[in-house]
Amino acid sequence: IEHINRAKEKNETLISFEVLPPLKGKGIEALYEHMDPLMEFHPAYINVTYHRSEHEFRKNPDGSFKKVTIRKRPGTESICAAIMNKYNVDTVPHLICGGFSITETEDALINLQYLGIDNVLVLRGDAAKHETAFIPHPDGHRYAIDLLKQVVNLNNGIYLEEELINSRKTSFCIGVAGYPEKHFEAPNMETDLAYLKAKVDAGADYIVTQMFFDNAKYYAFVDACRAKGINVPIIPGLKPISTKKQLTTLPKVFSIDLPSELCNEVLKCKNNEDVEKVGEEWLLEQSRDLKKNGVPVLHYYTLGKPHIIANAIKRL
Ligand code: FAD
Repeated sequence: IEHINRAKEKNETLISFEVLPPLKGKGIEALYEHMDPLMEFHPAYINVTYHRSEHEFRKNPDGSFKKVTIRKRPGTESICAAIMNKYNVDTVPHLICGGFSITETEDALINLQYLGIDNVLVLRGDAAKHETAFIPHPDGHRYAIDLLKQVVNLNNGIYLEEELINSRKTSFCIGVAGYPEKHFEAPNMETDLAYLKAKVDAGADYIVTQMFFDNAKYYAFVDACRAKGINVPIIPGLKPISTKKQLTTLPKVFSIDLPSELCNEVLKCKNNEDVEKVGEEWLLEQSRDLKKNGVPVLHYYTLGKPHIIANAIKRL
């Protein structure tokens, strides 16, 4: 939030990126290779996503199945520290409710403060692959607001153990998620915005949006938030389209619409290289327009496609 306030004074638009921890077994170099081309744009901060454990059924040699629990992308907290050391840039770890008890969450937050990380994006997390709907951990939080309140408590020196009164206060700057096209479970936009306002009233410093491909939806969302008295910065989340398949997967996974003009351009493409060019142009146009309209930050979901984003930002 300090970066945003400083940039506002100078009338600047910041750039930030979201990256994923490498798959377990890959090593952090894979992540650095992904990030290196993006660092020349001097991002104000880097977000690192958080991933829960999933159950899988694996086949035994005798043909029977065993249930295994695995976390495919661990290490968010330490990756944030490693990125800070390597690139000298602030990091924002995501923290989710799903799959974690409140005690584990408190330990993760303490861990972050030891590492010198004082930003966090608090989220509920999605249902695990083996669940049809989100099921909270038996000793965990149900909604992002509950996790947010835990972070606010720690910022006030209130730990889970009552005897730790007057303990060291943490200093987390807290972000939350917002959905210009509504969260898929919310019955309507009105209800979704009421819960978003509750998160802000409970102490969220800023909102980062789900990806969108039509800026009009972002502007309408910002207007609706402001009309409800949500006055914190609303950071637009952007992602380039890069394959034809995404015309069906993105709406399904993220509950968003893709504008017909973009779909038509993608459908005309002969191969994914051409789709990437369309993706780059669309991202560039979205970014130019948002910048012109004074957004605080352009936040890019890199998701394995840093070169498209780098090409677009170079031309911005
Ligand atoms: P919430 O704010 O808890 O909202 C979830 C739903 O419940 C909404 O429909 C809301 O309207 C409703 N609701 C909220 N509060 C209440 C209440 N008190 N009572 C009743 N209903 C309520 N997922 C990951 O697993 N890891 C990540 O790193 C990650 N990063 C993300 C980053 C961004 C910018 C975004 C937008 C999403 C990210 N997600 C991530 C996905 C996110 O976890 C899912 O979208 C999840 O389904 C909702 O999370 P939330 O924090 O918005 O939940």
